Amino acid sequence: MKRNPLDEYAGKRDFKQTREPGPRVKKTERVATGNLFVIQKHAASHLHYDFRLEMEGVLKSWAVPKGLPMRRGDKRLAMQVEDHPLDYARFEGIIAPGNYGAGTVMVWDIGTYEVKDAEPLKALEAGKVHFTLKGKKLKGEWAIIRIRNPNEKGKQPWLIFKASEDLPELSAKKENESAISGRSMEKIAAAQDAEWQSNRAAAGSEPDSFKARIRKAAAKAKAAKEKSEEQGTDIAIASKKLPHGKVAFIEPMKCKLLDEIPNGDDWIYEIKFDGIRALTLKRGDDVELYSRLRNKMTHRFGDVAEALKKCDCESAVFDGEVVALEQSGRSSFQLLQMSRMPGQSPPIVYYLFDILNLDGKDLKNLPLHERKKILQQVVPTNDDLLRISDHLGGRPEQLWTEVCQRGLEGLIGKQRNSKYEPGKRSGAWIKVKCTSAQEFVIGGYTPPQGAREKFGAIMVGYYEGDKLIFASKVGTGFDRRVLEALHKQFQKLKQPECPFANLPDKRPGRWGQGITASQMKRCTWLRPQLVAQVRFTEWTMDGGLRHPVFMGLREDKQPREVVKEKPER
Ligand code: MN
Repeated sequence: MKRNPLDEYAGKRDFKQTREPGPRVKKTERVATGNLFVIQKHAASHLHYDFRLEMEGVLKSWAVPKGLPMRRGDKRLAMQVEDHPLDYARFEGIIAPGNYGAGTVMVWDIGTYEVKDAEPLKALEAGKVHFTLKGKKLKGEWAIIRIRNPNEKGKQPWLIFKASEDLPELSAKKENESAISGRSMEKIAAAQDAEWQSNRAAAGSEPDSFKARIRKAAAKAKAAKEKSEEQGTDIAIASKKLPHGKVAFIEPMKCKLLDEIPNGDDWIYEIKFDGIRALTLKRGDDVELYSRLRNKMTHRFGDVAEALKKCDCESAVFDGEVVALEQSGRSSFQLLQMSRMPGQSPPIVYYLFDILNLDGKDLKNLPLHERKKILQQVVPTNDDLLRISDHLGGRPEQLWTEVCQRGLEGLIGKQRNSKYEPGKRSGAWIKVKCTSAQEFVIGGYTPPQGAREKFGAIMVGYYEGDKLIFASKVGTGFDRRVLEALHKQFQKLKQPECPFANLPDKRPGRWGQGITASQMKRCTWLRPQLVAQVRFTEWTMDGGLRHPVFMGLREDKQPREVVKEKPER
């Protein structure tokens, strides 16, 4: 059997104690444009920089005490250390005291690298890699060369040189600023709950992964804005010289509903929010929000309109969606209910995803990716009410699954080079929906399995007349907090009899959903008093649910009201 290249990495760490990523080797597809590189600033017992290059599904790593040299011919010592998992590239936060490498970690720079005229792995094995970095801070050529003798601890020393032209020294601010979050080492250290922005999100294993991804998108937007400001190519500022043109309502472009998500380099993906589509017209300090049917909504979202006055432009037309946000970063039906309750107002944010006119200049025929760049420059990033709905990284199928697990409506796909086509459903913008959803009555639960605690799945059904009809087990959609809270509520509702009129099934059922008499013996039954909202892809032939996901309890529903709703067709 082949040795796992991350054995050494795993051996040094206790993953119950550290939030660093687990030792997972990724099967990666080679990308023609280059592979990932990252430099992490690491305040361990000695401050150093960890330089990492993606090769064969892991990050080849060196500790560089003084960081990469900036002047041609300068050389620095680089100690090769154990390979790290690819997910490590976005690890930023604190390694807790007592763990290997304890201290603060910042993603100091991140981007892609290319090796000239050689296969990276072969160059590495030969002991000389001449590479070009395309990072947020570092751009240019370097070379890293192995020195013959390993030191007494078996560590392999290398030397890293600056090749080609000199680079200007970074400002002190840039030197101490994360490439993904903009935070200083001090800010990262001070953050109570060490954030980590990780590819592990794609596996859906991290409760905050979605939040992290949204944050990542925001950080990316901020970095792009700063970069363009530095380079003096700020379109917004340049366009201020243009005459203040007329801006008028533009009918929002529509998404075509697809069954499957399109894949490929020419698509970008955004969250489909279950909020309200809102087009903004800004004329100086006069800001109005309109619905897709051209109804004014400014009075409902006055704070948003106020925030938009701070945009870096005289006039503009924006497209976006007003959303009620839960703390986890998802928008949800529970919040829409909450906003109607007196004294309860969930945070409202405006997710901007397009700009159609800037200072009188029509942008509709620019490719989408260019409009997005302009949007990032114009919209203030320091306002909590305004967020740019940036595109999400990762594989589309994984994104789709994750989005559904988070209880969101679905995913939007947009062709990177598409024009803005007012009022049209041309197919350049598409949406894929997660599922249907309805309420169900909880009538029992199955025992926990594997690593899961408290219970395995809830058993749900609906009323047909006086009879409670079993529909499905629902085993996903719970995080640990929800599991515990539900389990606690269940204890007060236990009863010996099964409340479902149609159980047991005679057979296990076509999709393994049926409950036989012997399976019933292991279930715990509950008085049918709790109502759950459940998303699912469709009703199965024998009356079950395919891919059901628990979304929350409905406190506004009486169990007796819960009937089978007609599937959307
Ligand atoms: Mn380190």
